[in-house]
Amino acid sequence: MFAEVAFPISNFQTFTYVIPKGLKKGIQLGSRVLAPLGKRNCQGIIIKITSKTSYLGKTKAINSLVDDVPVVTPELWKLICWMSRYYMTPLGQVAKTVLPKQLSTRYKPPMRWYVQPVPVVEDSLIISIKKKYPKQFKVYNIIWNSNHPIKVSSLKEHASSPIQICRSLEKRKLVTLLKQVSLPDVSGFSFEPLHKKVVFNQDQDGVDKKIMVALKKQKFSPFLLHGVTGSGKTEIYISAVHYCLSKKRTAIILLPEISLTPQIAGRFKSVFGDAIALWHSKLSKSQRSWTWTQICKGKFKVVIGARSAIFAPLKNLGLVVVDEEQEASFRQDSPAPRYHARDVALIRAKYENSVAILSSATPSLESYHNHITKKIKYLHLPRRYGGAEYPTVHIVDMIEYQEESGKHDQVISGLLQDKIEERLINKEQVLLLQNRRGFSPVIRCGDCGSIRNCPHCNVTISYHLKTNNLLCHFCGFTESKEGKKCHECKNSNLLYFGTGTQKVESIMQETFPNASIARLDIDTSLRGNHMTSILKLFNNGEIDILLGTQMIAKGLDFPNATLVGIINADLGLHLPDFRVGERTFQLIYQASGRAGRRQKQGEVVIQTFSPNNSVIKQAASLNMTKYYKIALKEREELNYPPFSWLSKIEILGPDKGKVSRLSSKIHNEIKWKYKGLEILGPSPCYLEKLRNQFRFHIVFKSIKTLDPNGKKLHQFLNLNFADINKRFKLGQNRININIDPLSLI
Ligand code: ADP
Ligand code: ZN
Repeated sequence: MFAEVAFPISNFQTFTYVIPKGLKKGIQLGSRVLAPLGKRNCQGIIIKITSKTSYLGKTKAINSLVDDVPVVTPELWKLICWMSRYYMTPLGQVAKTVLPKQLSTRYKPPMRWYVQPVPVVEDSLIISIKKKYPKQFKVYNIIWNSNHPIKVSSLKEHASSPIQICRSLEKRKLVTLLKQVSLPDVSGFSFEPLHKKVVFNQDQDGVDKKIMVALKKQKFSPFLLHGVTGSGKTEIYISAVHYCLSKKRTAIILLPEISLTPQIAGRFKSVFGDAIALWHSKLSKSQRSWTWTQICKGKFKVVIGARSAIFAPLKNLGLVVVDEEQEASFRQDSPAPRYHARDVALIRAKYENSVAILSSATPSLESYHNHITKKIKYLHLPRRYGGAEYPTVHIVDMIEYQEESGKHDQVISGLLQDKIEERLINKEQVLLLQNRRGFSPVIRCGDCGSIRNCPHCNVTISYHLKTNNLLCHFCGFTESKEGKKCHECKNSNLLYFGTGTQKVESIMQETFPNASIARLDIDTSLRGNHMTSILKLFNNGEIDILLGTQMIAKGLDFPNATLVGIINADLGLHLPDFRVGERTFQLIYQASGRAGRRQKQGEVVIQTFSPNNSVIKQAASLNMTKYYKIALKEREELNYPPFSWLSKIEILGPDKGKVSRLSSKIHNEIKWKYKGLEILGPSPCYLEKLRNQFRFHIVFKSIKTLDPNGKKLHQFLNLNFADINKRFKLGQNRININIDPLSLI
């Protein structure tokens, strides 16, 4: 018997080995082995087992087997190969992205004490404890009231030594103590499990049935689940996962950003308990490798996580859900492979014969177009669960407001301020969206007018109040604000313009000194579980006003939040990119969806400097179908996706002249080779210099009539760019190939 072994070397070339007799039983597809490569013994993965070999040289033998279970499934290997071909990235690099950095670990998750009440207890016993041991009684009450086992350590605030008290209670036969595995980070990232009775309404029932039918068939079946915010999509996923598990199949749920969605994790946890693994960036290396091997061993049946969870080595995958499928965070832009987890999810589902559900209240135009052209089955939940009304939306024309009020740098309009005040009086909550972090994003010299840029990037540097620093949001460069002078005229008259979340926060604190205010953005979320704790506080009503960047716009479900304020709806709308309209629409629509999710009527105030802009207008009327119609027409006229296929070659280097010359040289060589393409550029990117690298790009668009499925474009790229390093002297320059890029900035 022979085996093809792939090693994580740069090109991931595969080599043929003999499988020695002693290893025949243990070796399977996806097993990790040690085998001689050159003079060393290297770790590789078995990707094929054959009885014959076409290799004519002398084949060496595999030395030993590393693990007792395979670390990738054959389907997952097939996916890795597809990614390598499609995203034009060496196999080794794809494999490096897919597999955790380390696969062997001594790590074992800690065991923790949990406690649960004994179901039936005599009243007299409880009465006597209440009298004699009030401390024990207090703790017992908490345990009794919770209807699932709770961590003994969580009782710390009620007793100095909770374990001793629990032991005493156990002796009295009031509670049972259990030692359970404490899974990596699950508790830190999820809310306490919720227990609620779920009764599907008619819409949900219809959707659920269609998914069941597809799951039963065990064939590739892609769906677009389009459900307004709060329509109960998450309950649909839970039901589908239930069904999968009952059929001994497994499931992956992809979320845009797991720390933003502790509620969803909590809901899954309460239903599926320890069958669930969370896969996210905050796991340590050893927790990752432990989780990975547990999945390989079949210990976890459901994996929830951000984009790389799509590579979870689950066997028998029955279902993949991509929640908020339009989110840009599903795209990995650097390093290669530059992949989109939603597209990879579809391919994986195809290889595994599973159901794929792309889900959203505001689908991407691509997925929506696939529904219109019937390439994907459409499921619709048009109403909020429980009949919650959609919010009333007010648009404030900020130019008019500022002129009328004479307050030209006013950030909060009179209307928004009044509405916030109303909410505070009624003890309801407010969400404020300002999609820009920091305090002031623009620093301008008051004397000569020049704008302060990051020295490494050609973008403005932002002022951050908390650290009193100037910070570049691209490369992280910081400098102290103190003693700064203008780069041009050397005067110290620097003025701070524009509004970031920190400025909104300080305005709120001044205007509403008695309100409790919290802020969520990248700067606050870097601190451990800060995000989850803020969300919990907001959920418990301990925060009146929660403000933040787009982080607060999605997935969250707060019954008492009845007002959403969008401080500046135009942010990002004027960037030169074909997706900005779609993005802005989705953000406003999603943020509006946070208002009034239960009985109380919600309101939204949208502040804008362009009230007549069609994106803002359609978003404010919450008219998705109309906006999507307009946007698709525009895309078709301009030949942009979903009506064409797009690829981008990015040329980067430290010297602008050299980057520019190299770009032209490449362009000149290839532009004649294929006539069925539209080629834009070469031109400097909109963000021309980032991290000391100058950036140029050449953009390729397929033409619908000549290349409807983008195959010719892909062939063209393969032909011309696969060996680009060999044909051109790159020197210090680099070339990135970006297939289906999300943005052209
Ligand atoms: P979405 O994911 O579409 O935003 P959710 O699944 O979060 O919507 O549903 C909104 C709220 O309604 C949640 O609190 C959810 O638990 C509740 N809900 C949805 N469907 C049901 C149901 N069939 N029975 C009980 N509660 C439901
Ligand atoms: Zn910078």
